[in-house]
Amino acid sequence: MRSFDYRCAADRTEALSMADTAQARFLGGGTNLVDLMRQNIEAPAALVDVSRLPAAIEETPDGGLIIGAAVRNSAAAAHPAVRTRYPMLSRAILAGASAQIRNMATIAGNILQRTRCPYFYDAAGSRCNKREPGIGCDAIDGFNRYHAIFGGSEHCIATHPSDMCVALAALDATVHLAGPGGERSVPLLDFHRLPGDHPEIETALRPGELITEIELAPSAAAANSTYRKVRDRSSYAFALVSIAAGLQLVAGKIEHVRIAVGGVAAKPWRATRAEQVLLGQAPTRERFLEAADAELAAARTFDGNAFKVELVKRTTAAVLSELAGVDA
Ligand SMILES: Cc1cc2nc3c(=O)[nH]c(=O)nc-3n(C[C@H](O)[C@H](O)[C@H](O)COP(=O)(O)OP(=O)(O)OC[C@H]3O[C@@H](n4cnc5c(N)ncnc54)[C@H](O)[C@@H]3O)c2cc1C
Ligand code: SF4
Repeated sequence: MRSFDYRCAADRTEALSMADTAQARFLGGGTNLVDLMRQNIEAPAALVDVSRLPAAIEETPDGGLIIGAAVRNSAAAAHPAVRTRYPMLSRAILAGASAQIRNMATIAGNILQRTRCPYFYDAAGSRCNKREPGIGCDAIDGFNRYHAIFGGSEHCIATHPSDMCVALAALDATVHLAGPGGERSVPLLDFHRLPGDHPEIETALRPGELITEIELAPSAAAANSTYRKVRDRSSYAFALVSIAAGLQLVAGKIEHVRIAVGGVAAKPWRATRAEQVLLGQAPTRERFLEAADAELAAARTFDGNAFKVELVKRTTAAVLSELAGVDA
């Protein structure tokens, strides 16, 4: 690891002024960034510690929630309003990492964690366009079991590893930002980028910008919602695929539905085609499979990850059947 400055910010203004060079990085719990520094994937000249900024979860006037960027993952998952009004979010956070890591990790750090593609971490021996633009991608013809089936490009097929962000995508969360140019907000669905020709550009974050909060609007589908993660072992493993979904039935028909899929793209994948198939329909397992098929028509698979198509289909149908109370 190379030497770097460490600065600890007490508030937002101090954090923005301390991040005064392009080589500065904000530090949350450090559970991803410090690993990347140890492996020489990232080498910031300065770390601006924002983990001690005020961290609260507050009600909004319209009945939603604002969650501070420095709130720890475990605190967000345990908060009564999150557990009762947005259960998919609580369950998604608890499906990630370990209790110790969730106690350290912050909301902002979770959103900005980087891919777990093994070639990205293997700086000494592998080609990776995300790490070094233009040198190639060893995953496309290599070990791609964990890689994308939606939205990949010839330059990168990495997935975003966050569980929490899958629920945030289903909930239409908004990311609030503050930076040298002022404050702005970005829908979470537009925050992470697909790789295209520039897999090294992963988000809409501008240089020096700080995530300050995320906002959850009230949602008719959120109270009856859940998160299911399918992985190679039952804990402490990243998702092969995951589903965050919420459903509201009125008079036996689907009035509101939200579905997002994890482990399948460089961003949490909102399944809008599947949602469209389901609106106004009676909930049956056959209809849920049909909806998943509509979404999966756009899938592009590789040697190691073709199984994800069937896995997404079955998991989607199982989760929606559970929420609707019909036979899976
Ligand atoms: C062994 C292991 C297993 C894991 N398993 C899972 C899993 O199954 N599912 C899952 O979802 N996650 C998993 N994680 C990832 C874990 O959730 C992330 O490491 C964590 O969420 C990152 O949070 P952090 O606060 O520690 O971020 P940091 O490591 O501090 O920072 C990550 C990034 O966010 C930036 N950043 C932090 N705060 C801000 C801010 N306010 N504004 C702008 N930029 C900011 C940093 O500059 C850095 O680029 C795992 C991690 C480990 C180490
Ligand atoms: S999939 Fe993306 S992150 Fe993985 S090796 Fe290819 S370019 Fe790098």
